Amino acid sequence: MNRLSDIGTIKDILSRHGFTFSKSLGQNFLINPSVCPRMAELSGAGKGVGVIEIGPGIGVLTNELCKLADKVVAIELDKRLLPVLEETLGEYDNLKVVNADVLETNLHKLIEDEFSGMEVVVCANLPYYITSPVIMKLLEDKLPISAITVMVQKEAAQRICAEVGSRQSGAVTVSVNYYAKPEMLFSVSAGSFMPAPKVDSAVIRLNVLDKPPVMVNDEKKFFSVVKASFSQRRKVISNSLSSGLSLDKSKTAEILEKSDVPLNARAEKLSLQNFADIANNL
Ligand code: SAM
Repeated sequence: MNRLSDIGTIKDILSRHGFTFSKSLGQNFLINPSVCPRMAELSGAGKGVGVIEIGPGIGVLTNELCKLADKVVAIELDKRLLPVLEETLGEYDNLKVVNADVLETNLHKLIEDEFSGMEVVVCANLPYYITSPVIMKLLEDKLPISAITVMVQKEAAQRICAEVGSRQSGAVTVSVNYYAKPEMLFSVSAGSFMPAPKVDSAVIRLNVLDKPPVMVNDEKKFFSVVKASFSQRRKVISNSLSSGLSLDKSKTAEILEKSDVPLNARAEKLSLQNFADIANNL
């Protein structure tokens, strides 16, 4: 549909469908017409590419993705939006809308069934209440996807895109960097949404790596080390590790020494290699 991201069009559609926003589903719809074309372009959507979109809402971003990609599968949990999407995007024969919870969806199967032979990317204005679980599911499931371009709250974007080993880094920074190279693309003001959230947002792209940048023997151990290390940010690594992993102090000291990590270092100063060494020496 033309002029779909025009505020007048959006208000008209929503009122005709008697739609009311659900806060618990993170429904803040984009009303800034310049954002979606830019996001779709930067997502890698194009000829030969299939796109998974999470939470199409009334379809403003979907509309741009359908113009560029060979095929788009949009997963929307709120079934009240299905008739709205039928009205706004019914003209596209390269679109499939799936009424499901993305966290409960078998994305391997979806990719196999819908995108055979295509490069696959993910593009979404994510509902804020499940930002981290969705990003981690997309990465941990080891899907055959090349990039994940998502709008998230600005603070979450800064945390994810921080350098590992810098003060801004956290468990999510290390975890994401194990699977992908994150990139900050552009900021989006709170006024670009209806209803306007309290904080600004940003679009980031996670360029998925073919293989992790460090060698880890047991990924479960690696992620529990990362989680424990950052669980008490102000504590030194020897304390946060021994309490987070229920290890005695002398054992923890032995592992850190073997990994060449000072006992009094802070988690935010550690490199990916440091976390991998600790996990491999556990
Ligand atoms: N893409 C639209 C836009 O940019 O205007 C809407 C984005 S809005 C921030 C998030 C969307 O995700 C809503 O449409 C909401 O209903 C949907 N959603 C929330 N939780 C979901 C879930 N678990 N699985 C799939 N969609 C979900």
